[in-house]
Amino acid sequence: MSELTKILLRRIAATGPMTLADYMHECLLHPEHGYYTTRAPFGEAGDFTTAPEISQMFGELLGLCLAQSWMDQGAPGRFVLAELGPGRGTLMADILRATANVAGFHAAMDVVLLEASPALRERQREKLTEFRVSWIDGIDELPQVPLFLVANEFFDALPIRQFSRDDQGWREHMIAGADGKLSIGLSGPTPIASLEYRISDTKPGDTVETRPMAAGFVQVLAERIAAFGGVAVIVDYGDWRSLGDTFQAVKHHNPVSPLAEPGQADLTAHVDFEALSMAAAGVSVSNMVPQGDLLNRLGIELRAGQLAAGLAGDELKSHEDAHRRLTHPLEMGKLFKAIALYQNGAALPPGFET
Ligand code: SAH
Repeated sequence: MSELTKILLRRIAATGPMTLADYMHECLLHPEHGYYTTRAPFGEAGDFTTAPEISQMFGELLGLCLAQSWMDQGAPGRFVLAELGPGRGTLMADILRATANVAGFHAAMDVVLLEASPALRERQREKLTEFRVSWIDGIDELPQVPLFLVANEFFDALPIRQFSRDDQGWREHMIAGADGKLSIGLSGPTPIASLEYRISDTKPGDTVETRPMAAGFVQVLAERIAAFGGVAVIVDYGDWRSLGDTFQAVKHHNPVSPLAEPGQADLTAHVDFEALSMAAAGVSVSNMVPQGDLLNRLGIELRAGQLAAGLAGDELKSHEDAHRRLTHPLEMGKLFKAIALYQNGAALPPGFET
């Protein structure tokens, strides 16, 4: 039995069943045994591959989207270029390369990264050595200046709670431990104020998910953007309004049981973009746009053609595959979505038109 399984079983024996959120938090970020704390899980050799790891085009186009928004907002002379959960630092490296020729952009920026994992901070530092970068431990530490921010596959890693409905209301999915094994059970009836609005569109038997930390992150982004200007582009897999059990574990690119190997597999769940939008007080929120549409509108065809011109053979084939993976509706094009938060009265960031 793994060390983390023992720790979790001891904790459950001492203090009772845990919410999925507590379980997910321990599995992903436990200081010694957490998934993100102990490894760099991205890429073909790791457990999963994210859009920036598939092709440089993803970061380049998002970088130009942010830079255009910065120009549309009057090119503020000092701003923060930020990322939440930068992984290996690939997305930020691509953003910085693509914006190097945008007049005044690099001179005015401070790069700020929010990353919980010391191992991944190190990877990011190595990748971004040419730039002055600082790390923050909490979202509240974002400087009080205009904010141009991106978050890709960050919110899906934040812990969720799950509730199933019966005739009386909601019961929470809890992690229990018996006979040396973790299992999922249901709590007694649990009144939960933040789910009152879901009674009207669900029926007994339905499961919904909430993500308690997500609203806190979005509230701070919205406060900064409302007060100082800027844009936050959030890309993730999910949809408008949570319905159903989407809790999943992935190891070596294959689904595994979320309870089987705590700390050894990546745990995520779909992002509820409606819930993010509801937390974005005092700013404008774009429509939710499928990733494929966003990248097409930002000009991925053109960029893919430019890059293809310098390639041949296997390299060309893998470039074409990457383009397809990012945009095709049966690959990431439709499952992944994006929204942008921007200051009231400012121009809609490019790519988010209806
Ligand atoms: N954006 C990257 C990586 C996505 S994986 C990419 O697209 O490739 C999720 C990232 O968020 C990892 O870097 C992980 O360590 C970080 N992370 C997860 N939970 C976090 C938290 N609560 N606070 C800060 N960073 C967190």
